[in-house]
Amino acid sequence: MAELLSVNDALQAVLDRVDPLPAESVALAEAAGRVLAGDALALVDLPPFPSSAMDGFAVRAADTPGRLPVVERIAAGRPASRPLAAGEAMGIATGGVVPDGADAVVPIERVTADHGQVEIGEPATAGVNVRPRGGDVAAGAVVVPAGVRLGPQQIGALAAAGVPDVRCARRPRVAVLTTGTELRRPGEALAAGEIYESNGPMLEALLGSAGAAVRPLASVEDDEAAHRASIERGLEHDVLVTSGGVSVGPHDLVRRIEADLGVEEVFWGVSVKPGKPLAFGVRGRTLVFGLPGNPVSSLVSSVLFVLPALRALQGEREPRPRYLNGTLAASAKADPRRDELVRARLTPDGELEPLTGQESHMIVRAAEANALVYVPAGDSELPAGAVVRYLTI
Ligand code: AMP
Ligand code: MG
Repeated sequence: MAELLSVNDALQAVLDRVDPLPAESVALAEAAGRVLAGDALALVDLPPFPSSAMDGFAVRAADTPGRLPVVERIAAGRPASRPLAAGEAMGIATGGVVPDGADAVVPIERVTADHGQVEIGEPATAGVNVRPRGGDVAAGAVVVPAGVRLGPQQIGALAAAGVPDVRCARRPRVAVLTTGTELRRPGEALAAGEIYESNGPMLEALLGSAGAAVRPLASVEDDEAAHRASIERGLEHDVLVTSGGVSVGPHDLVRRIEADLGVEEVFWGVSVKPGKPLAFGVRGRTLVFGLPGNPVSSLVSSVLFVLPALRALQGEREPRPRYLNGTLAASAKADPRRDELVRARLTPDGELEPLTGQESHMIVRAAEANALVYVPAGDSELPAGAVVRYLTI
């Protein structure tokens, strides 16, 4: 491992190799979590008509205060049969069409209604409790711009604006291949020297939650032929993510076999802790990530580099990790040479508590974390109260 790349340079090198995937049409009901490939436009004005904000009486403001005959009752979805004339009131439900001729709705709580008449004691202002047509959005205007990942609020907005389907980049197809003779699946008995395989399920969960269609390949032993066959299959996907076998030991076969299979290595080694031996390459349009096997290294490398690649493949506007500012609850010692992602707990009052057990095999300790604090390399210790950048996980 010659020169270690900085975290930023490594991320840039990854993003430089990503082209967004082609778009497809997606029914709105299936589109949660997908990224818009183009601006989605409103098909109607919203509201589509002047609409009542209250249950009450539609009137002319100029006729208030006063006692007015109630000439019709307007339900939501059932407009009045005729315009409102001067000196009249119409009962109206929330969401009902405010009739032509009316310019205000007096809430039911503010009137006395009896014998087909309504007594309005206070003057109403023109426009009160009337939601104007197009007040939320006008037909043809952008509801959600390209590059936004659709959450519930965007799905609701698109449905309200009459959009039945949207164009989204297709989901990245991601193969996950774990390597290591020592690995057994939970449920099997462990023989001497064996451990449970944890990176596969962890990566499936992580990458799936970022919109990938994950294909787990069966874990392979540190054996040349087994590696070759599985890596070949993995390279048929948009992204191949391997774990293990990228360090400097004699059983670390991944990079050599990938090179044999035509993978061009873009970099190997990042100045980050954990996750230093990360390898990244490409074959054609396939992105190839070789994650270190230690579970916390695999997790951190994926958050820093694989997730941004998945976001960029889906055309997300800002694919880079979104750091927030926070305050350390306790001091954190910097690593002299490498930037470090310290597992921490974000307390309800917004402080970051570094966890004990920061070694890269300690995935159970990491399970308590909901934040990764970015501690830049240096000789100093960050004191309690220092403002730091962090990622939520
Ligand atoms: P490697 O990167 O292959 O040298 O593995 C580094 C360490 O991570 C070793 O202790 C491995 O046993 C462990 N390890 C590798 N792959 C996995 C995995 N899929 N699940 C859990 N631990 C792993
Ligand atoms: Mg290994």
